[in-house]
Amino acid sequence: DSVFSHVVRAPEDPILGVTVAYNKDPSPVKLNLGVGAYRTEEGKPLVLNVVRKAEQQLANDRSRVKEYLPIVGLAEFNKLSAKLIFGADSPAIRENRVTTVQCLSGTGSLRVGAEFLARHYHQRIIYIPLPTWGNHPKVFTLAGLSVKTYRYYDPATHGLNFQGMLEDLGSAPAGAIVLLHACAHNPTGVDPTLQQWEQIRKLMSSKGLLPFFDSAYQGFASGSLDADAQSVRMFVADGSECFVAQSYAKNLGLYGERVGALSIVCKTADVAGRVESQLKLVIRPMYSNPPIHGASIVAAILRDRDLFNEWTIELKGMADRIISMRHQLFDALRARGTPGDWSHIIKQIGMFTFTGLNSEQVAFMTREYHIYMTSDGRISMAGLSSKTVPHLADAIHAAVT
Ligand code: PMP
Repeated sequence: DSVFSHVVRAPEDPILGVTVAYNKDPSPVKLNLGVGAYRTEEGKPLVLNVVRKAEQQLANDRSRVKEYLPIVGLAEFNKLSAKLIFGADSPAIRENRVTTVQCLSGTGSLRVGAEFLARHYHQRIIYIPLPTWGNHPKVFTLAGLSVKTYRYYDPATHGLNFQGMLEDLGSAPAGAIVLLHACAHNPTGVDPTLQQWEQIRKLMSSKGLLPFFDSAYQGFASGSLDADAQSVRMFVADGSECFVAQSYAKNLGLYGERVGALSIVCKTADVAGRVESQLKLVIRPMYSNPPIHGASIVAAILRDRDLFNEWTIELKGMADRIISMRHQLFDALRARGTPGDWSHIIKQIGMFTFTGLNSEQVAFMTREYHIYMTSDGRISMAGLSSKTVPHLADAIHAAVT
């Protein structure tokens, strides 16, 4: 008898489990709108041209070896990543008060940041938006933080519950950590306006709340890397300290390469140096040091003006295709006279639409139309194409009538 016979089967991950179910479905019309990865108009994964070029460069460079990276990763990658999110002219970078460490994509960056906070910050409470990406509460809880939520999404308007958000942050204990999605909030697609960000910043600053930005979609929301970094830059510009977890999964399509970065903006260069020394103590026993390939690809693209420009064009292409899917789906529902106001489909931002469909309606669409999505009614617009929009619109129409 196995010494593990008492082990009970765990449920599938609620997001990744959608793809497991999709893969088992033999229907030719099946559609996977659960996965948070970009697909082309033909429904295929996309490797960006600039990534192919950078990989070719790396392959041709015979001087490249497979030695370990330092604990904090590739130095050039870290520098360029900080520049990308904070802006080339960021005073915080110029004053050397930012420490950036390469981590395992966005998730790893969040985890390393959270572990550091649990060890070295006076306040253990982290506020996360309601709802948020399903992995957030698990990452923060396992790192030793205590998770609370702040109101964010208003189901009645399919928009931001700004008043609720301000009230909840306003009553948070001094120094509490606040997780903010830098742009393209997952799963709701609802972002504060710049004016609202400014009010959030003022409130947080007056209460000494510590911002922890999750930036998983820079450039993917609007098509502009700078526009999508505005929220982060606004907070850094006021001189406050903050955390940023960056992912290159979506904006460079490097999902499986697991490449990302954690930056901590500190008050002084001296503090930043000491913080970095402690980050190393977090990372070393966790995975020793990060992988070299993905970070080398990113560095090759960010350092080269031509590759960088080509990237911005490809990135805009992905963002524009997603925005066009929003319009096509909205138009298709209007053409069918589907009851309800579906304007949130074109108002929401980024990869996902939070449709407002409930779990029974989602189950109906999966059963009758072979359409797969998370039970909260979130659909990935990146998984749609002009060819599949009518099928989805038929399914939504049938589900709500
Ligand atoms: N944060 C958010 C909000 C996300 O949507 C994702 C990806 N789904 C991540 C972080 C982390 O992704 P990764 O670890 O693949 O970079």
